[in-house]
Amino acid sequence: MKSAQTWLMSGNQAIARGAYEAGVTVATSYPGTPCTEILESIARHPGIEALWSTNEKVAYEVALGASFAGARAMVSMKHVGLNVAADPLFSSVYTGVNGGLVVVVGDDPSAASSQNEQDSRHYARAAKLPMLEPSDSQEARDLVLAAFELSERFDTPVLVRLTTRICHSKTLVRVGDPPEPRTPTGFIRDFDKYVLLPRQAILRHRALEARVEALAQYAEAADWNRVEWRDLRVGVITSGLAYQYVREAFPHLSVLKLGQSWPLPAQKIREFAAQVDEVWVIEELDPFLEEQIKALGIPVASEGWIPRVGELTPERILHSVEQRAPQPMQLGDPSIPGRAPRICAGCQYLGVYTAISRIGVRVAGDIGCYTLGSLEPWNAIDSVVCMGAGIGTALGMEKALGDRVRGKLLAVIGDSTLLHSGLGPLLDLVHNRGQTTVLVMDNSTTAMTGLQGNPANGQTALGQSGPGVNLEKLIAALGIEWVRVINPYDLAESEEVLREALDHPGPAVVISRAPCLLLKRRETVQQAHLTEEACTGCGECFQVGCVAIERQELAGRPAPLINHDLCVGCTLCVQACPEGALQPRRLVPDLVELETCLTPAQPR
Ligand code: SF4
Ligand code: SF4
Repeated sequence: MKSAQTWLMSGNQAIARGAYEAGVTVATSYPGTPCTEILESIARHPGIEALWSTNEKVAYEVALGASFAGARAMVSMKHVGLNVAADPLFSSVYTGVNGGLVVVVGDDPSAASSQNEQDSRHYARAAKLPMLEPSDSQEARDLVLAAFELSERFDTPVLVRLTTRICHSKTLVRVGDPPEPRTPTGFIRDFDKYVLLPRQAILRHRALEARVEALAQYAEAADWNRVEWRDLRVGVITSGLAYQYVREAFPHLSVLKLGQSWPLPAQKIREFAAQVDEVWVIEELDPFLEEQIKALGIPVASEGWIPRVGELTPERILHSVEQRAPQPMQLGDPSIPGRAPRICAGCQYLGVYTAISRIGVRVAGDIGCYTLGSLEPWNAIDSVVCMGAGIGTALGMEKALGDRVRGKLLAVIGDSTLLHSGLGPLLDLVHNRGQTTVLVMDNSTTAMTGLQGNPANGQTALGQSGPGVNLEKLIAALGIEWVRVINPYDLAESEEVLREALDHPGPAVVISRAPCLLLKRRETVQQAHLTEEACTGCGECFQVGCVAIERQELAGRPAPLINHDLCVGCTLCVQACPEGALQPRRLVPDLVELETCLTPAQPR
């Protein structure tokens, strides 16, 4: 290293930096918390093809293709994204790589922004590829560099597992120099390696088993699995962020810190256990290490103590160890006032969900900001499972219940989610003669993860613009004849078109189209104002669910109090009020009004 520098970096930034220093040529991803910033950060480095893919499976396959071509490649995704990419993951472990291939996965203990708390370490064992687990940003950078070496040395993709806290916390990182330019070797035909016909698959499986043995052997001496000797009465085996918590909670205890959580260095673990009176295993989420260590015949004294639900903290670990029982996860910190996630003031979803709740239908939802339609006051979504699941779930309900739900079933999905994994179910709906109505919330971006580009808006990770896919034509090409676009800021039109779609004897798609307000800030030229004497306190305006509509009491009746710091003048509450008590008022007086009001005071 010619010029070591120390920077303050998040784990995500450090991963991107490590990949850059490793000479990565192609980086791919689909946005998802906690890992979105990896690709955003890598796109700022020179000479890297950074791609937002349509979903994690595609992202994985693009990175794998780059690796086959001899380039170093990295693919990053959130934990549930790895489920989507699992198909190529499992088989690419058989083909192996050419250029190094690193797969970064971000787990989300406490499900801060996810639909589950799955522990992705199981993928390493199930698919039989090595997994490295950094415990801070420095290790994130270092282990990505090591992962590329490991990948090429052992002819395997390598998993690097982060958790939300590591992705987003910033710690100091000693960075290295920019890489020397690397030219991909090119694809070299190797039938037995890259063409997984059944015979080749068996041959590759044999090679894979031998590789796992070699990786376990290599782990024995790898410097990322290290022992810190202190008090020998207890030896703690840990990995990832749990290591930091262990150091804080039990600074006096000996520790075996595993930077590689699969395959494990069995001999090293046995030697460590032999030196201490008892072994504790402290890890976040599942007892992944604990089960493997017990399988080595080593008693684990801490068995059953460590919480399996929710993120760990040093305090939770201390409490659980003291009580010899897992401390349950608290839902929210009671010392901090709760604040539920809300849809932005004036967002298109307010209008659509107001219309849906007026109609009264069963709604199978999907993953995106629009999932918030499941909350008060709309209570408009009845199920949310995973990306792209809404349409299939609705079709299943329709097939199970037939006429009982005909005309009363809606699947709601965003534009980005539709392209991620909704097109297959939509085609299935057509093929299987479904009659479910699909509402596509098109806000021209991938909003929930921070306004990333996607094929619908035509924006790439490298800042190139294009027209994007025409959703109407795409949906029509799948065989859906009934497709309408609505203006979600027209409450009457939204309700009418949705009713028409639900009545249509066949699959129908309604596209609710308006840009995300964060993407294209509405020019606020007007705001809602209340005429107090006209308000009857009926409460219809509250049903719009806008955060700019607060409550006040007027003559003993509830009445809206418009927060003009938030109101963007979308007029949805104005349309909802049956008494005309809410009216739009221009923000800036027009010239005539200005002149009139200035006339008496201004000498000519
Ligand atoms: S006009 Fe009404 S619904 Fe629209 S942003 Fe203002 S307060 Fe909210
Ligand atoms: S909808 Fe109109 S009349 Fe009813 S509470 Fe709101 S402002 Fe008052």
